[in-house]
Amino acid sequence: TALLRIDDLVVEYPTAGGTIHAVSGVSFDVRRGETLGIVGESGSGKSTLLRAVLRLTPVTGGAVHYGDHELTSLTGEEMRQLRPDLQMIIQDPIASLNPRRTVRELVAEGLRIWPQRVTDTVDEQVRRGLDAVSLDVDLVGDRRPKSFSGGQCQRIAIARALALQPRVLFCDEPVSALDVSVQARILNLIRELRRTLDLTVVFVSHDLGVVKNVSDRVMVLYLGRVCELAPAEQFFAAP
Ligand code: ADP
Ligand code: ADP
Repeated sequence: TALLRIDDLVVEYPTAGGTIHAVSGVSFDVRRGETLGIVGESGSGKSTLLRAVLRLTPVTGGAVHYGDHELTSLTGEEMRQLRPDLQMIIQDPIASLNPRRTVRELVAEGLRIWPQRVTDTVDEQVRRGLDAVSLDVDLVGDRRPKSFSGGQCQRIAIARALALQPRVLFCDEPVSALDVSVQARILNLIRELRRTLDLTVVFVSHDLGVVKNVSDRVMVLYLGRVCELAPAEQFFAAP
């Protein structure tokens, strides 16, 4: 069953040089528990699409259905209530982590903003979030981001998202800034999470090899349009 349904989404950027058509009538669904990979070359509209679905960028037209909600018509406050459900990690993990905070504080950040997501205790949910990414709170909890590698920072960012017990994890080029050897470990981690936590994943990358590694279905964007959407085994089958 579809957890998210995107209908005819259009996103345009007005600029001095004219209108940029970043996303031009994109429709797809995301099924509960699946990993949907979205692949396309730089400039094909991947980031814009993710950001529009999450209401981080204004939508020109179309609809985003999540459960009983239509996200493009929600008020800011209604959207704020849903944010913990729909978490995102980005390409540059270090940029998303406040350097002045400890790991413990960083992973607890979302739980301070959305106390309704504290179903156990903050400490316990921080511990479980870090556990899920193979970090031990007793070893790393008091350290700050600058003492970690890029891969470890991405783990911390993922732990922060997981502490909120999200339904969907949106990943925007989550391994593109990492060393190749570290990439594989983060991809394995994302695959594992999807299996162990009842998590749905939307995974965006320009790298087909990376998308192949994690996806159940693959959607190809080209110039802001969907040009292919197929199960991964079909997509990657020899012709
Ligand atoms: P990516 O290809 O990984 O999305 P970019 O370098 O294209 O990264 O974009 C980086 C940032 O600049 C993003 O926030 C994006 O929205 C913004 N951006 C990209 N293209 C333009 C543009 N033509 N005008 C203004 N901002 C842009
Ligand atoms: P991708 O993530 O696939 O690299 P983007 O969504 O970043 O693609 O960009 C899609 C198109 O929209 C590109 O032509 C890009 O230059 C343009 N674009 C992205 N962000 C902005 C922005 N903030 N202002 C103007 N144009 C933008």
